[in-house]
Amino acid sequence: MVVTDPELLLTLPHREYRSGLYEVIKYALIADLQLFMFLERRMLALLRRDADALAWVIARCIRIKADVVARDEREGGLREILNFGHTLGHALEAATKYRRFRHGEAIAWGMIYATLLGVATDRFKEADATRFIRLIASVGPLPRLSGIRASQLRSILAGDKKSRGGKIRWVMPRRIGKVEWGVELPWTLVSRTFAALPPFAGTSN
Ligand SMILES: [Zn+2]
Repeated sequence: MVVTDPELLLTLPHREYRSGLYEVIKYALIADLQLFMFLERRMLALLRRDADALAWVIARCIRIKADVVARDEREGGLREILNFGHTLGHALEAATKYRRFRHGEAIAWGMIYATLLGVATDRFKEADATRFIRLIASVGPLPRLSGIRASQLRSILAGDKKSRGGKIRWVMPRRIGKVEWGVELPWTLVSRTFAALPPFAGTSN
């Protein structure tokens, strides 16, 4: 969910505000290379809540969402791409009883994770993964993953509303601006990749 009222955005505490920026990055990765490049160029302005940069970005996100929802009517299921990063993200929030992560922070970890899965399954180029993770890191530090185990996440993931018949359906990156949805992966890969996540991400600023 992107907060679309600029007035409201300006009043958010910094951590909540940064948390919203991860959802903006999500829109860029799933559908918009131009937005992605804008975020790479203007992240400092966005962190300063520059009004013009913010207005441009918000308009872009609203357009992407409307477009995805409209195309979903014809293509059935396309709106699943809006859940990029949310499969693991929701599980992380639940596993920590909604106390450790802001929603966007959990989604940021979910996106980093989906990126590693994308690289591991040869869907996503390592150079794009590096570029994407660097953009996420430029927003700031993320709460640590310490103490969360893949085995703990498994039952949460299987109960997720996006899984069908207990099968987890992932949204996976293909390139910057394009994702694939409904991907089923073996649990061994899912848990091994989770264990391979760095315990922390982001720069401290
Ligand atoms: Zn969200």
